Order: sequence, then C-alpha cells, then structure tokens
Amino acid sequence: MQSQLTINEQFSLEITIVVSEMFGQNAYILRRTDQDRCIVVDPGFEIQQIVDYLEGNAYQLDAIFNTHGHIDHIAGNKPLKTLYPSSPLIIGARDAHKLSDPEANLSLGYGMEVISPVADITVEDGELIRFAELAFETRLTPGHSPGHVVWLFRDTEIPLVINGDVLFKESVGRTDFPDGSFKQLEKAIREQLYTLPDETLVLTGHGNSTTIGHEKQHNPFVQPVNA
Ligand SMILES: [Zn+2]
Repeated sequence: MQSQLTINEQFSLEITIVVSEMFGQNAYILRRTDQDRCIVVDPGFEIQQIVDYLEGNAYQLDAIFNTHGHIDHIAGNKPLKTLYPSSPLIIGARDAHKLSDPEANLSLGYGMEVISPVADITVEDGELIRFAELAFETRLTPGHSPGHVVWLFRDTEIPLVINGDVLFKESVGRTDFPDGSFKQLEKAIREQLYTLPDETLVLTGHGNSTTIGHEKQHNPFVQPVNA
C-alpha cells in the first residue's frame, strides 16, 4: 500500500505500508520523492517485503525507527541491521532495554525469543531527529509501554504522526501489560496527540489510519478534557 503527501512543488513524502500477517502490524517506509534514501518504522514479521522494496528500488536505508519495544514492532530489526549494518536503530530511551529482553518485549509469552540488536540512538521527549532529509519531532507517549514515542512530521500539506500503539481508529493501545497504564495513556493522548491540529494524519501500528479530529469526536476510550 502506498500513498503520497505533498511537501512542496518539487517533491512529496512517499508512505509505503507493509502489513505483517501475524499481529496485523503496520510497518512504514518513508521517503522523500527526490531522495534515494528512506527510513523504516517498526519493521515487523514481513521483513522480506521491506527488503524487496529497498533492494528493488536501490534505496539506501538511513535509519530504523521503533515506536516501542514490543515483539511485533521490533521483529525485523535484526534482519534489517544484518543487511544494513550502518543504519542506526532508534527507540525511546525507556523502551531500549526491551530490545534484548525477550520477556519484556513479550516474545517469550508468544513462544518465540526475539532479540534485537541494541539501540544506536535513544530519544527523549521533544527531541528533533533528521534522517533521509526528513525532520521529526519526538514525543513521549507512555501507557501502552513506558518508553513509547511517536514521531511528528510537519512538512507535508497536512501534518502526520507516526503513532505506533497509542491511538487506533476509534480505539487505543492495550494497557493490561505489567508496565502498562491507562491513566498514562489517556494523559499522553490528551496532551501529546489531541493538542495537534485536527487534520493531522495518524499512522497507526495496527489497522487503518485516522485523524486527530476524528478521534477527538469518535474515540470511545479517550475524549478531550472538555468534551
Ligand atoms: Zn505494542
């Protein structure tokens, strides 16, 4: 699945979605259309599709982003790092330990043992990072996982947020894990997401994309404070 959002008259942002059958998880490949470089967000279990896209187009992988350290979002880190060893792996500081801890990344619970390479870069709330000529603002959004981060991209005609497992279309991420917290998730959604412009496109970790405005109106789990 592929779509484009205009950045300016010369180039756009190309968004390619690769859905993993197991867990129905969405991996995203983002590229500015005037560049041969891209980033991959949350490579899951369909790694061959991602590699075929990169190799088929002779694109360079500038960085691997993880929104958080759960198995379905990190399973592809190791094969990608093996093929592209110089691409830095980036994750929120408070989720970095999950990469190499099969119990914390939930893989043991599913009868697997997923161990990702360690992070090259860890990020905190409010950091600006730039890869493949794309600039992102990091926002810390705990609740589903303590170190979960989302990445905001403001240079397209409508802003977009790579949101992992925080907000889903008319739903929210699970908070029934030992380190989960609905209270934290609700606060993160209200303060870090619902404060974004209504037209902001939300690229979700599972299921269809949505917008901030749609969720403020229709999300049955988290409503804006003054709703
Ligand atoms: Zn998750």
